[in-house]
Amino acid sequence: MIQNPIPWPNGAKCACAITFDMDADSLIHVSKPVDGYNRLYPITMGKYGPTVAIPRILETYRRLGIKQTFFIPGWCMEQYPSAVEIILKKGHEIGHHGYIHEDPTEHSPIEQKYWFERATDVHKKMTGRKPRGYRGPVYNVTQDLIDLLIEHEIQYDSSLMADDIPYLMKTTCGEIYEVPVHWGTDDWPPFAHYSEIGYMMPVRSPSQGLSSFFEEFEAHYEANGLWMPIWHPFLTGRLARWNAVEKWLENIFETRDVWFAPLEDIVSYIKDMVEKGSYSPRIEKLPYYTRPPHLR
Ligand SMILES: [Zn+2]
Repeated sequence: MIQNPIPWPNGAKCACAITFDMDADSLIHVSKPVDGYNRLYPITMGKYGPTVAIPRILETYRRLGIKQTFFIPGWCMEQYPSAVEIILKKGHEIGHHGYIHEDPTEHSPIEQKYWFERATDVHKKMTGRKPRGYRGPVYNVTQDLIDLLIEHEIQYDSSLMADDIPYLMKTTCGEIYEVPVHWGTDDWPPFAHYSEIGYMMPVRSPSQGLSSFFEEFEAHYEANGLWMPIWHPFLTGRLARWNAVEKWLENIFETRDVWFAPLEDIVSYIKDMVEKGSYSPRIEKLPYYTRPPHLR
């Protein structure tokens, strides 16, 4: 069970948001800055996302009549403008995902601000507005980054893990919603094999790898929660895996009462409920620590 389930619109049992992080080949350039540009296998593994998987995923969404969320690093938006264009044309949301998938925990607050604002400028130029949501590359956000999101009036973060459903984070700078993630609903563990960045998992078959996501859905459906897979076009957008997802989605649409929406809509729905006094989110107070708690 979930202690304070959100009453979803039209009595839906559960909200669903499939989020795709379109990292493309940013990962190899940021992890191998000297010679990544000349490593063609990881470049092509990533490029498959915007060029082959995105049109496939969007076609499924079109047939099902749903709008969803994509998190894209600013550099990937500049590098693959036609993927951005079709995502926007179909009415989906694009969220902030760093500039070139840089890890905020490896940068000073000034550098974090530089990369964050450089990517924000790309969003403004290519989408005509500031992004509403943010997801930290590798989920690695810092307190400085959360405060930066609040300063830039970003409506929600989706990188942290303190609950099953959205909650409100209050810091000394203000407040921001968190739409929580966890590794059990991320497709890197079952599907990624990427020795260049030190990530070597045994790749599962589509049915084995996807079954954990579908079990997560059942738990959220039962508890009136929010099912939010964190997928990557170059992993779950591959042919056999996406075929299995598509069949599963068709069945869910026929047999269940669910609300599929982009995260920006889900968060603004929750904010409306809170403003009307119809719902109280759980509150997490930040910062958690300002110094190493075990050192005198
Ligand atoms: Zn990513």
